[in-house]
Amino acid sequence: MKKYSLGKTGIKVTELCFGALPIGPLQANISVKKGAKLIRTALERGINFIDTAEVYQTYPHIKKALEGYKGEVIITTKSYSKTYTEMEKSIQYALESLDRNYIDIFLMHAAKATPSVFEERAAALQCLNDYKAKGTIRAIGISTHVIGIVKRATEIKEIDIIFPIINKLDMGIVNGSVDDMVQAISEVHKAGKGLYAMKALAGGHLIDQLEESFNFVRNIKGITSIAVGMVNQEELEINLKIFNDEKIPQELLSQKIKPSKRLFISRFCKGCGTCVEACPSHALSLKNGKAVVDHQLCILCGYCNPVCPEFAIRII
Ligand code: SF4
Ligand code: SF4
Repeated sequence: MKKYSLGKTGIKVTELCFGALPIGPLQANISVKKGAKLIRTALERGINFIDTAEVYQTYPHIKKALEGYKGEVIITTKSYSKTYTEMEKSIQYALESLDRNYIDIFLMHAAKATPSVFEERAAALQCLNDYKAKGTIRAIGISTHVIGIVKRATEIKEIDIIFPIINKLDMGIVNGSVDDMVQAISEVHKAGKGLYAMKALAGGHLIDQLEESFNFVRNIKGITSIAVGMVNQEELEINLKIFNDEKIPQELLSQKIKPSKRLFISRFCKGCGTCVEACPSHALSLKNGKAVVDHQLCILCGYCNPVCPEFAIRII
């Protein structure tokens, strides 16, 4: 599979990145053994890039997948930490949990933050920068759904890599259109920073237009790689075919990537509204004292379920 450099970091990643969110307990809840096997197969089939986050709870799957693996692997993780101490704990936790001496890419997890996130989390960013200077982190950056953050990242010298949302359906992008995001990506790229993309299939809304949807994002100048969540061998095979520019056999397509996952809110919802605040896509609201989801707007980004104090939200 083709590899490209992420900006000026010197880090070369495959065009297909294994997105680890869906295998974890927040979504498909696949066992560590099974999830590790899928990740290991992906690596052995040529993918060298894994995207995870502290909140995804998939460090055990990745650690197990890497046991005895001698090939190259680039791991991104992310943390919501705001202070220096919190970020330091996140870095240590990632190093220990993944059993690594260093983390390739560490991002500020900032889906719904405002462009002033760089000031609000200045101490956390400083911590990432200090660990980069020590060699514990190779590159630092930010993940976001917000166009203003992508634009501002251009001028923040510490930021090496940006991980924005983009898809041809224009879903999940905050404060602008897909054209605005393409423009922002272009500016970041011109500034020499690396970019890889999330949600090319808009959380499953584009499942019936796989190739066109991936190719739309692949053709955006500056996008080096796309993180794609995969939960079974069939999905991996189809994605490998697409990113290796090979024809997908009809029998593989007819086994089909699973029907779109759905978000469910259980009767344990107490109507606190925390999830409504956390959703960057305005897909949640309160009705008669309970949270309700608009499936047309939900991109299954998974930002709502970790914040629910009642564990009432599941993505299955
Ligand atoms: S965070 Fe949980 S309890 Fe609160 S409104 Fe959302 S689903 Fe209900
Ligand atoms: S409802 Fe939850 S999973 Fe769906 S877009 Fe909002 S935060 Fe993401």
